Amino acid sequence: MTEASLENRIFDPAETMPPAERRALQLQRLRETVARVANVPFYREAFAREGIRPESMGSPADLRRVPFTTKADLRDHYPLGFLAVPRSEVARIHGSSGTTGKPTFVAYTAADLKLWAGLCARFLVAGGMRPEHTVHIAFGYGLFTGGFGLHYGVERVGAAVVPVASGNTRRQIMILTDLRPEVLVCTPSYALNIAEVARADGVDPRCLGLKFGHFGAEPWTEDMRKRIEEELGILAFNNYGLSEIIGPGVSGECCCRNGMHIQEDHFIVEVVDPQSLEPVADGEPGELVFTTLTKQAFPLLRYRTRDIASLSRSSCPCGRTGARMSRVAGRTDDMLIIRGVNVFPSQIEEALLRVEGTAPHYLIEVDRPGTLDEVTVHVEVRPGDFSDKMREMESLRQRIGREIQIVTGISVKLNLVAPQALERTAGKAKRVLDHRKEKGIL
Ligand code: ADP
Ligand code: ZN
Repeated sequence: MTEASLENRIFDPAETMPPAERRALQLQRLRETVARVANVPFYREAFAREGIRPESMGSPADLRRVPFTTKADLRDHYPLGFLAVPRSEVARIHGSSGTTGKPTFVAYTAADLKLWAGLCARFLVAGGMRPEHTVHIAFGYGLFTGGFGLHYGVERVGAAVVPVASGNTRRQIMILTDLRPEVLVCTPSYALNIAEVARADGVDPRCLGLKFGHFGAEPWTEDMRKRIEEELGILAFNNYGLSEIIGPGVSGECCCRNGMHIQEDHFIVEVVDPQSLEPVADGEPGELVFTTLTKQAFPLLRYRTRDIASLSRSSCPCGRTGARMSRVAGRTDDMLIIRGVNVFPSQIEEALLRVEGTAPHYLIEVDRPGTLDEVTVHVEVRPGDFSDKMREMESLRQRIGREIQIVTGISVKLNLVAPQALERTAGKAKRVLDHRKEKGIL
């Protein structure tokens, strides 16, 4: 499968709506949302304080009068204080995967679930999925929105779902070998893990018959995409979402793969400077902030995602008119401040993948033994490149160190380890171990 041979299909005509028409629709939906969230004490109080009513929303820019909603606000109203419908109308409850603490719960009405499946179907079709395909889902099924979200999205496309769920990689490979699905859905790190275990077991992952991969739920780089595509012989697509906003389906790539189209008929996006909270210009990185426009059970206004990305509103050859967001560089809470320099784990990944012989399996360990931060990056060497010759390993170490210095501006200690030495996860990869947090320094 090559990018050039991929046909551009549009699942929902709303994806190509003229921007002016969409802005009008957004405004109407924003007013409806402002009216609806008056059932939520958090918003009722904020609106009373700021004098906000549905009619105050004269243009989407008026949204800026509404205060932000944060993860801490959701925690303060744990478990379901943001519910905007009676409990009897709730059809399903999910939770964030709890990557950064206690899970937060989110709720859906039957209409929300229908909407969600349709949004997932949009990016799946944009990324090559067709009704005749079979789709292997290796995301966790549970409170995490990845498994169920994609599951119903695939069904909406009309394709056949194999709900394998995550874990037991050897079994995944057996099922892939036997059922020969065209599409794989999971986290990018797990896709690579599947390829690696297959190879180790004597199965060529390129011969599994996979054509497309839809990956998300964690940050990954362009080089990682290339590596996954080579390993599995597929076209890999990025999709983004978070449980608070709906789950996967907030945005996803089209056949041009030049950013993820945001489903702007259902979400208003803003990008702000995470410190000043002022809007940043298109093209500039900042924190993504979303407002849901059509969700019933759990509408959120100006939710701060803590995810760093930039926006582009230039036109896309695919015909979709929604703004595109860049890859997510990382979360503000994953950003490491090392001796005053800001570093995202994805930058370390970018550097590693530029060096021949390294595998994109790494763990960043940060500590402050005295007064200075120290970073040790544990890096796996690829099977053919791991050697007991000191000189070869030393030269590899130097090349990696140089790349990391160029990309991040910091110098790190490197610990090269044998293939498979670092722990694998079936879901979101754990990339950082920050001892400063345990010690209470941060
Ligand atoms: P948790 O906050 O517990 O991880 P979720 O399961 O809702 O909760 O995960 C959503 C988060 O996953 C997003 O806020 C973002 O940080 C990350 N994420 C999702 N998709 C992507 C993607 N394509 N690229 C980078 N990060 C992503
Ligand atoms: Zn496009």
